[in-house]
Amino acid sequence: MADPFKVVLVNPYELGRQPFALAEPAAWLKREGFAVRCLDLSLEKLEPEPLAAANLVALYVGMHTATRIAIEALPRIRQLAPKAHLCVYGLYAPMNEALLRGLGVGSVLGGEVEPALVSLCQALRLNGKPLSRGAPLVSLARVPFVVPDRSVLPRLSRYAHLVQPDGSTRVAGFAEGSRGCKHLCRHCPVVPVYRGKFRIVPADVVMEDIRQQVGDGARHISFGDPDFFNGPTHGLKLARGLHAAFPAITFDATIKVQHLIDHAELLPELRACGCLFITSAVEAVDDDILLRLDKNHRSRDFDRAVELTRAAGIALAPTFVAFTPWTTLAGYIALLERLVALRLVESVPPVQLIIRLLVPEGSWLLKLAGFRETLMPFDPALLGYPWRHPDARVDRLQQELQADVAQGEAEKLSRRELFAGLWRRAHAAAGLAAPDLPADLGSPIPRLSEPWYCCAEPTMQQLQAF
Ligand code: SF4
Repeated sequence: MADPFKVVLVNPYELGRQPFALAEPAAWLKREGFAVRCLDLSLEKLEPEPLAAANLVALYVGMHTATRIAIEALPRIRQLAPKAHLCVYGLYAPMNEALLRGLGVGSVLGGEVEPALVSLCQALRLNGKPLSRGAPLVSLARVPFVVPDRSVLPRLSRYAHLVQPDGSTRVAGFAEGSRGCKHLCRHCPVVPVYRGKFRIVPADVVMEDIRQQVGDGARHISFGDPDFFNGPTHGLKLARGLHAAFPAITFDATIKVQHLIDHAELLPELRACGCLFITSAVEAVDDDILLRLDKNHRSRDFDRAVELTRAAGIALAPTFVAFTPWTTLAGYIALLERLVALRLVESVPPVQLIIRLLVPEGSWLLKLAGFRETLMPFDPALLGYPWRHPDARVDRLQQELQADVAQGEAEKLSRRELFAGLWRRAHAAAGLAAPDLPADLGSPIPRLSEPWYCCAEPTMQQLQAF
């Protein structure tokens, strides 16, 4: 019998999650008779085994940090897998196509990639040649999802876990009920690929995926959908299905501010179904910045979202792009003041308060009139267009805060202690005396052990040796 065609799927980094984006293609490829192995570089090293025998190595780049790790890893992969065709797929692949091809990557795929991965393997197995250059980079055609194959990945217990306010932990599973997004926020990496479209993973497939993860020890499910309420009926169906099948299992999801307000009546039921916390990309508390980002919510809507989630008994974990070219020192202090006023200091991972806006190739920010002209030339090391703030004090503050957070995290300071340091530093940068912080800054909330971040230059702490 002929040797099977061997595929190695590589995950550079996915926020500590066991990646659906490897498990789903693995199921498709195995069904077609391909031999599939996975390498998760957040947990495993690049070794000759299984790369030496690979016919295809496909790296998944769902986020900026993953792409930078992939670029670092590609030369070593090339050495270890000399006969393999190289493919890179995921949100960041099409926008970095030229760079990736320059590194020897033969195939670049984005969007709903599973059929293209199967076709690529079939073409390579048949005649050793990849798909033609004319094949679409991005496909948004609906795909018939199957139950992802997670047996090819490290056990869930090795990935990020849920941390409760009392410090106890639970094994977390990671499910996706949809891909893409119906919104067009300018800074978001989903937008250049999905262009306002989203694709539903059928509820029965999601439930089977959850079932297998519960079998692997999951006691909490983190839904990785870009927005759980892009299809609120679908989201609610998943929450109900999860609760009906596993009443003791909790979950979290990501929902934008506008959806929290528009579908506020669904929040109590989400809570009743086990929702512990909702991550929401608030991004800014300045209406001018929100408008530039096309977030479709205003600053005051943040307060409303906090009120609604609290009333439903769900913790809100807001995320921010704290530093943009339009952020002023006063505006940054206003962000910290809002977190104090809303008693959210314990709800925000410190990394969220140092994030600097990333402008990757293909970003819809580049469509903002006059914006491109303010940027420096594309930097392949950064994978983005660097920018300098017109007020040098703002860039200096961001760098100082970044160092403070790195040091504070190394010293295992609490969120509250780290926040107090940022508070003092920000006021000093503006030449102000920092007012005393009130005693009640809010209470710790449930969280995942690896913080969520996305549309930002990474702090490089994830760029580990592999
Ligand atoms: S930021 Fe969120 S809501 Fe906006 S386009 Fe991206 S995923 Fe959708």
